Amino acid sequence: MMLSFLIGWDPMYYAFIIPGALLAMWAQFRVKSAYAQMSRKGTFSGLSGAEAAAQLLRAHGLEHVRIEPAQGILSDHYDPRQKVLRLSRDVYAGRSIASVGIAAHEAGHAIQDRAGYAPLALRNGIVPLASVGGSLAMVFLMLGLFLRSFNLTLVGIGLFSVIVLFQLVNLPVEFNASKRARASLLTSGIIQQVEDRDVAKVLNAAALTYVAATLTAVLQLLYFLYRAGLLGGRRE
Ligand SMILES: [Zn+2]
Repeated sequence: MMLSFLIGWDPMYYAFIIPGALLAMWAQFRVKSAYAQMSRKGTFSGLSGAEAAAQLLRAHGLEHVRIEPAQGILSDHYDPRQKVLRLSRDVYAGRSIASVGIAAHEAGHAIQDRAGYAPLALRNGIVPLASVGGSLAMVFLMLGLFLRSFNLTLVGIGLFSVIVLFQLVNLPVEFNASKRARASLLTSGIIQQVEDRDVAKVLNAAALTYVAATLTAVLQLLYFLYRAGLLGGRRE
């Protein structure tokens, strides 16, 4: 909302952002179709998402991590502070490839946490900065562009970079969680080799949405640099 007020109907903004928007739409389509397909497909082991996650956590000595059902669709996440895995109802109780794959991905974050996986620690450190920096960035960018102040715009760009940094650090975290999930599902026997491709279909589609979000943030940053005159264009 704030952003649309900020950039108005500047056609250059849309020129910058189009590749990100297209990839985001493609990713959404891929997620929806993969989830629709794989939430109907059962696994040979017949475990629910919660049962699969519990087994993976046990295998990694993480019995203390609780697994709770969560409200909302695709609200699945691991809370590193409370050591809780929250799974949406369909993932928690579902006995499909999609349910088991997503539950295992979230368990993958708990395993990262236990292993002291550096990008996860870095991401968790950036989260509070990114939420404060994000709101402040919009205020400074708006003031800077409206008042035609190069310095205020520059502060806004600096603050916005924190969001871009968060997205960039988030990528290895997400890819690595899926990698750990697939490996653990196979070694634990919850998923058989022939089913791995289907699990990958769901997790890779989800990963693509993170790639799209990162690309969009980078393109927005480039646009702000362009508006500030730091990228080829004129200085306003
Ligand atoms: Zn994740």
